[in-house]
Amino acid sequence: MGIITDFSEPFDPHFPVVVIGAGACGCCTALAAHESGADVLVLERDKTPTGSTSLSGGQIPAAGTRLQRKAGIEDTPEILENDLIAKAKHQNDVAIARHIAQESAATIEWLVGRHGIELSALQSFRYPGHSQPHMHATPGLDGAELLAGLLSAVERADIDIVTAAHATDLFADAESRVVGVRYRRPNGQVEDTGCDALVLACNGYGGNPDMVARYIPDMANAHFHGHVGNQGDAVLWGLALGAQVSDMGSYQGHGAVVTPHMVHLGWACITEGGYQVNASGERFSHENEGYSEQARKVLRQPDGVAWTIFDRHGHETAMQLHSHRDAEAAGAIHRAATVADLAAFIGCPEPVLAKTVADVEAMASGDMSDPFGRNFTGHPPLKQPYYIAKVTGALFHTQGGLDVDKNGRVKRADGSVLPNLFAGGGAARGLSGPSDWGYLSGSGLLMATNLGRLAGAAAARLSREGSASQYSAR
Ligand SMILES: Cc1cc2nc3c(=O)[nH]c(=O)nc-3n(C[C@H](O)[C@H](O)[C@H](O)COP(=O)(O)OP(=O)(O)OC[C@H]3O[C@@H](n4cnc5c(N)ncnc54)[C@H](O)[C@@H]3O)c2cc1C
Repeated sequence: MGIITDFSEPFDPHFPVVVIGAGACGCCTALAAHESGADVLVLERDKTPTGSTSLSGGQIPAAGTRLQRKAGIEDTPEILENDLIAKAKHQNDVAIARHIAQESAATIEWLVGRHGIELSALQSFRYPGHSQPHMHATPGLDGAELLAGLLSAVERADIDIVTAAHATDLFADAESRVVGVRYRRPNGQVEDTGCDALVLACNGYGGNPDMVARYIPDMANAHFHGHVGNQGDAVLWGLALGAQVSDMGSYQGHGAVVTPHMVHLGWACITEGGYQVNASGERFSHENEGYSEQARKVLRQPDGVAWTIFDRHGHETAMQLHSHRDAEAAGAIHRAATVADLAAFIGCPEPVLAKTVADVEAMASGDMSDPFGRNFTGHPPLKQPYYIAKVTGALFHTQGGLDVDKNGRVKRADGSVLPNLFAGGGAARGLSGPSDWGYLSGSGLLMATNLGRLAGAAAARLSREGSASQYSAR
């Protein structure tokens, strides 16, 4: 993994735009670059693309879409922008947040209208920090379904994707202009291709234990729930080329990954009135601040575990999500007729749990305020039978990355842009600010789809300007 500076001859083949990674970001980049008239090559390390996009819930936030209007949802880019900025406590890149929120409806219209992705606006539940229902998803609320749709669109557009092509090195000149990419095939064979513009769509560093230990030491021992291919290649290449990285301690966690099965509950079981207790049967947090920051709160409990308690309404709402259906199918979600059954399942003192349950009921009825600051009054008290699952906290994906401008061009520390390097999705700095508490649900695919579309079009424009001369390896 590195930068090769020793080259001279023209590369053959040569593509105006090369994209590394075939997740949501890479596919959107390729589609946009192709539409803007560039020949595009996508390099993907897996034999079949199954990046974090395919593990995700496939939910993409956007504001002011036709789909929302059809569903009777009144939303504006300003509302989404404010939600993104408020969740990150104004510590994210506000200009990028504003720009992405403004672009979000156009991206959804483009995915649906131009590329046949079957999205609809969701409104049966609302994630923490979403002051309007911003989410859009394919029918199964399943990232694999979303990625399959995107890959079909790429195939229909006749864009070249080389799979089982692990990009290992970039060729760059003295000005950090990337003129080619080297990739390795499973049989060890090495191939090179030239480019005028390169887009890094190869996600973050959650799958690289050394980088996690360095940048996010708190999560060094946590289960990583994203794709193993998130090795931090974009950050490593970017740093070697003089790029600026920011918010490297930032990440999306999840505080309800069922253990030992390791699939996550749909967060709707919390938003719809559910809560978490520890091994003593006591609540320990405001669960609905966000699923991301909840990971660390759960990991701080004895043995790093907690129990999520919810009811049939929360369960059925969460069953819309493929991961919750997986948790149910794995037998991770148990039913408990009474508080005594709940206590027996947890192995905690029944009187302690009975007090916790009674307190939450009083909070839901408005008769008591929550010492952790959560407002339970929007939902009726949980109804028996209770549903319960043992959970832990996990790292889903990193949010720090390459600083980019509004078109995904990678920036140096002085704010200038590198000659022809772009990044999007998990490869770029996210919108979450410096830590785990700033992640607004859906920010991952928001950045993957929007920055992908914008970077693809901009990379095509740059390639037309003939930004790079053509070289090859010696
Ligand atoms: C369990 C889970 C649930 C999530 N749910 C949601 C959700 O509902 N909504 C949301 O917005 N976000 C969600 N996220 C986050 C979201 O999945 C990511 O932010 C998003 O998919 C990132 O897209 P991407 O295209 O940047 O990366 P990816 O989809 O990971 O694609 C990157 C691709 O690059 C390839 N690659 C990596 N390195 C190389 C290399 N050197 N050479 C060639 N190819 C390479 C990888 O194999 C991969 O296919 C979730 C994440 C997880 C883990």
